[in-house]
Amino acid sequence: MTTYQWAVIGAGPAGMAALGKLMDTGVNPKEIAWIDPEFKVGDFGSKWRNVSSNTKVDLFIKFLEGVQSFNYSQCPDRLKNYELHGLDPSKTCLLKHAADPLQWVSDQLKNQVNSIQSTVLKLKMQDKHWQMTLDNYKDGNIQSKNIVLATGSVPRVMPSPIPVIPLEDALDQERLKKWVDHSDTVAVFGASHSAIIVIRLLLDSGVKQVINFYRSPLRYAVYMDNWILFDNTGLKGETAQWAREHIDGKMPKNLTRVWSNDENNKAYLPLCSKAVQAIGFDRRKITIEGLPTIEYNDRSGIIAPGLFGFGIAFPETTVDTFGNVESSVGLWKFLNYLNRVMPVWQKYGN
Ligand SMILES: Cc1cc2nc3c(=O)[nH]c(=O)nc-3n(C[C@H](O)[C@H](O)[C@H](O)COP(=O)(O)OP(=O)(O)OC[C@H]3O[C@@H](n4cnc5c(N)ncnc54)[C@H](O)[C@@H]3O)c2cc1C
Repeated sequence: MTTYQWAVIGAGPAGMAALGKLMDTGVNPKEIAWIDPEFKVGDFGSKWRNVSSNTKVDLFIKFLEGVQSFNYSQCPDRLKNYELHGLDPSKTCLLKHAADPLQWVSDQLKNQVNSIQSTVLKLKMQDKHWQMTLDNYKDGNIQSKNIVLATGSVPRVMPSPIPVIPLEDALDQERLKKWVDHSDTVAVFGASHSAIIVIRLLLDSGVKQVINFYRSPLRYAVYMDNWILFDNTGLKGETAQWAREHIDGKMPKNLTRVWSNDENNKAYLPLCSKAVQAIGFDRRKITIEGLPTIEYNDRSGIIAPGLFGFGIAFPETTVDTFGNVESSVGLWKFLNYLNRVMPVWQKYGN
């Protein structure tokens, strides 16, 4: 069995950052395994490309430049090749604008470490090593003293009596058009950033009607001098502006909003031909022998000795100036968190 010092599972932005920071702290790239079925910058780079961000352009650039081993300053013609650098740094953008340069970084990193194109099916701790069972991997199983799980999250789903449009299609104008036409009345569950984008895209697609089932008022991020109220849960950028004008302002005629409870669901859902569920995300599952449920310390990412969780699946819990508790998500926040926890992981490892 091949043994590594570190393994990073997942090649989304979080996995890339963890890998890069390990290299920045002097871990030999030859002693790191990096495992992902695609190496396409995770869901960030594949599913959500056309989603409008709530992060500003300058923070995506800071993420690219914030990890020495990303070597982004050496990327040829980056200012010319990537639209990100031509955009207003103080505005939000589409996620693909950040995903394209990240793909370049991913390709560079992949060549420096032991990259394995596969899915980890199972983890098991034995003799101070984490053994990994890989899907369809010709060289058998591998083991590592330490593992970073950066495996991402998937949209939450609930049972539905009508066809459900997958969130990744509902958040992409072109893919959404394949699902709906002018005869459709579409139910949208949720009131978050994704739900508002979906409502807007559906209205732009010319559907007959959108019925939004919500359980909380809209929440907007508020920029204070050196902190942001509702930084992780509030609407930002273009999406916030649109919501203020069209939802909390003058609602379009073909948009109805109803409180989501049994009575309203019974009354309004039969009017709908399709549904979109923008009701949150759940951590991707991975089997760990002896740990039927994965609990992690949400201030340090520690799951077990030598096993650490990072990224959207294992976010840091933060408390703002007013005491509001939120899960801190977004690429730049991941990097700041990583700078604090990486030295701890290196001491808590095997
Ligand atoms: C609507 C929406 C808006 C967003 N807006 C922003 C924004 O404004 N700013 C921002 O920074 N981010 C934004 N994001 C991105 C999101 O918040 C996350 O930050 C990002 O996708 C998380 O990266 P990740 O690396 O943790 O996970 P992912 O990108 O999901 O990557 C996880 C990777 O792990 C791989 N993997 C999973 N399980 C295994 C396994 N068992 N073995 C091997 N590989 C595995 C997966 O295949 C995938 O490649 C948005 C996302 C959505 C949906």
